[in-house]
Amino acid sequence: MGFKERYERTVAEAAACCEACGRDPKSVVVVAVSKTVGADEVAEAIEAGAHDFGENRPDSLEGKRARFPQQTWHFIGNIQSRRIPDIVRDAALVHSLYQQRHVPKFDAAAAASGKVQDVLLEVNVSGEASKSGLAPSEVAGMLEYCAGFPHVRVRGLMTMAPQGDAQRARACFADLARLRDEVRLGLDGEQAAVFDELSMGMSEDWHEAIAEGATIVRIGRALFDDAFESPAHA
Ligand SMILES: *Cc1c(COP(=O)(O)O)cnc(C)c1O
Repeated sequence: MGFKERYERTVAEAAACCEACGRDPKSVVVVAVSKTVGADEVAEAIEAGAHDFGENRPDSLEGKRARFPQQTWHFIGNIQSRRIPDIVRDAALVHSLYQQRHVPKFDAAAAASGKVQDVLLEVNVSGEASKSGLAPSEVAGMLEYCAGFPHVRVRGLMTMAPQGDAQRARACFADLARLRDEVRLGLDGEQAAVFDELSMGMSEDWHEAIAEGATIVRIGRALFDDAFESPAHA
């Protein structure tokens, strides 16, 4: 099976997941995580209908976006201060902001390029030491801080679930959705109105994520890797 078949099957399954839980299929964006593949595979993916792509390194983000500027590019990787201007130039949405010291830098870079940078706050819901992100208890404070920077617009939350256990992953997604709803209550009207995205779910657990309200799923191996085998889903 090639990319096209895998992509079409994924989009159809995502729509079925939405319908099964009473959601509009248009409420979920499939981001094809192209970090392990080259430009030829991205071209093939675009041909197959993919339009949103995720990259975790500024250099590959820059190279692929320069080649395919019509697509929507997401930055999902670790943020280094000195690369923030590059990320701002190339990313429609940054999924992985969690350090307060990066906020003024995003604001300045976005102001300089005449844009407002859409970002998600990465949350370490599971508390695993190997994962980065804000503790759930830090999210409200971070939102309050971000409100002081007019060129940074927080669109929602992102998390990575523990791998290999669908039940734990699902609980983690449910926690992130609850946190989004809770902290939104404390936002002023303008901030609240745009704070609705939940970026959660990867190759192994995106079905569970959609069931818990994901608006963006980030799928790499299940789209690009011939050898990937999908685990069973509840
Ligand atoms: C690599 C990556 C993904 C995609 O992971 P797969 O398991 O290959 O689907 C999603 N999100 C982030 C942040 C990643 O780094």
